[in-house]
Amino acid sequence: MKCTYCGNEMETGKLITEGGHGLFYMPDGKNYKMFPTRKRIEDKHGIILDGPYINRFHSIRVGCCICKFCRKIVISY
Ligand SMILES: [Zn+2]
Repeated sequence: MKCTYCGNEMETGKLITEGGHGLFYMPDGKNYKMFPTRKRIEDKHGIILDGPYINRFHSIRVGCCICKFCRKIVISY
């Protein structure tokens, strides 16, 4: 994949974190309140990238592309 900012070839990889309920995009000013559920996230126009998990004993992994020239990361959902 070519970087949309500089046109150089991007490298594929994963964003990884350990011990969370998942990874979610939420629009500015929106929140899913105390505990993330699919309904609470999507009712507020959020996007689930991984999860939501009931407990925190998960490794969160989301595929992405990275441009090391202009330091951008692109995530598909
Ligand atoms: Zn770039």
